[in-house]
Amino acid sequence: MIKTERYGKGDFLKTSADDYSDALRKSVTVKNGDISLTVAEYGATILSLKFKEKEMTLGYDDTEEYKKQDGYLGATVGRFANRIANGEFYLNGKRYGLYKNDGNNTLHGGKVGFNAVLWDLSVKGNAIIAEYESKDMEEGFPGNLKVKVEFSVNADGIEISYMATSDKDTVINLTNHTYFNLAGRAENIENHYLTLFADGFTPIDSGLIPTGEIKGVKGTPFDFMEPKLIGKDINAEDTQLIRAGGYDHNFVINGAGYRKFAEVYCKASGIKMQCFTDMPGVQFYSGNFLTERKGRNGETIKKRHGFCLETQFFPNSVNEPAFPSCVLRAGEVFTAKTGYKFV
Ligand code: BGC
Repeated sequence: MIKTERYGKGDFLKTSADDYSDALRKSVTVKNGDISLTVAEYGATILSLKFKEKEMTLGYDDTEEYKKQDGYLGATVGRFANRIANGEFYLNGKRYGLYKNDGNNTLHGGKVGFNAVLWDLSVKGNAIIAEYESKDMEEGFPGNLKVKVEFSVNADGIEISYMATSDKDTVINLTNHTYFNLAGRAENIENHYLTLFADGFTPIDSGLIPTGEIKGVKGTPFDFMEPKLIGKDINAEDTQLIRAGGYDHNFVINGAGYRKFAEVYCKASGIKMQCFTDMPGVQFYSGNFLTERKGRNGETIKKRHGFCLETQFFPNSVNEPAFPSCVLRAGEVFTAKTGYKFV
């Protein structure tokens, strides 16, 4: 059933009422060359990313599903992406307590993260711009934070540029949680070849919190320095993999500045995706916790039917002074950029 309820302020700007009728009601689509991108005001969520008419992401038909289901499909995640141990951190000597929505930890911003709020959408040239103002102490984080996410639609891919400012010192970690499947439909992704330009990763404890150590990937199932099938080692008898039910780890990307950090190739479709970022880390998540659910066009989404490459500061970096700093000082401008390009 198509629901027509509005979430509040802001109206959708453009709709192209083809396949995802309800979800598109509060969303914007921009097309350029081989790419078509649809972003919703709910969660600044990527509802659809098509390359040469082929859907590259997992999604639902109905906006209600994005509200109901876990998994953060396509969402913009914040104020702090990934996990914060014990739901707390200290900043300038003060303790901040957060909502624990993942066992004893906080995941993806807490109870109502940026994935579950309404963003203001607009279009500027080939870009979809999503803006949100997160209030001081929203989900326990200090500072009124103004966030702007610009999704530039190029002829061969998209670039996501994040910008934020706060009126108080705060912490920030923004990412996009799109599940890709280069086969063009929901199916197991273990047959995708992945290259990750990362010599190291951050091992996790049983709550999926980094131990603080950076471990070399060489000689481990985490070595993706050369193209390797995601499925090759995913079921290995390895404590790290067993803890996460597969890959769900932060990789320490080699180099600095805006650089290529990954390539993914699907032999069946012949599609390759190149990934770029200026962030220090990326969560490679192989969709281990995706329980069976109905996806768009009646597709069935199951465990490992999509993979995420979530660029980020390292998980729990609020509590790990040795990790790259996620602190945003009052009045400073936070920027980050991530690109996904298709060939
Ligand atoms: C996390 C996973 C989690 C998933 C969906 C990923 O970023 O690392 O552990 O299950 O998001 O919530």
